[in-house]
Amino acid sequence: MSTKKKGIKCPGGEISKLAILRWWCRKVCRCKSCPGHKMDKVSELKKLEQEIAADKNLPLKSNLVFGEGSPDCEVLFIGEAPGALEDEQKRPFVGRSGQLLRKSIRELGWKEKDVYITNIVKRRPPENRDPLPEEIEKYKPYLTRQIEIINPKIIVPLGRFSMNYFLPLAKITRDQGKLFRLPAQAGAGNRFVVPMLHPAAALRSTGMMNEFQENFKKLPAILKKLGTEDIEPPEIKKESSKIIKQEDIQSKLF
Ligand code: URA
Repeated sequence: MSTKKKGIKCPGGEISKLAILRWWCRKVCRCKSCPGHKMDKVSELKKLEQEIAADKNLPLKSNLVFGEGSPDCEVLFIGEAPGALEDEQKRPFVGRSGQLLRKSIRELGWKEKDVYITNIVKRRPPENRDPLPEEIEKYKPYLTRQIEIINPKIIVPLGRFSMNYFLPLAKITRDQGKLFRLPAQAGAGNRFVVPMLHPAAALRSTGMMNEFQENFKKLPAILKKLGTEDIEPPEIKKESSKIIKQEDIQSKLF
């Protein structure tokens, strides 16, 4: 039996079949399922994580909590910033609110490993304070790239901070569970966003918990609708019926 490695000879040496597949997928096929495509996302995310770890200009000095889940997911959940337990374990949403989030995902019949969970700010702010605008801004290019690599069908921002990062005009109590399309320049491309209450807020009262659960249950139907319909945003008006400036467009679809 020949022990010769299979591959294609080129002036630079032998290129593996997988490397060719990855190149082909990136440049030509752009599918969501071939091994080359998956490998490419995994390695790009790894590279991005290493870049964040090496960036000395980033604010906050606690552990890096990059995110976890399937890079090939359809749904990307984005919280604010890690808390104490997340910092300790270097994993997003592992505390009380994380348990609620993860349970709610499982109750939809989804597996935790089939979605992706991350935060806008990748390190814990001291005393669990809210992330500052300049902290959010500094981590923004990295989140933008993380979203581009993962390329999810829907982004689910958890809580007011994360929602206003994508939809500056939205109000969490009014707009939770609604589907929005982002304008191309909103830091995440022309994408669909469904804001949810932060699970920590849901834990504060029965009323908020009911709202959180009701809205969370809408996700599979929204995902299905996006897969089957060619949705165009309606004309966008403010409540006063004044048309919103182009740069502020947030199109509520349903
Ligand atoms: N709250 C967040 O917003 N993110 C986490 O990872 C944990 C709690």
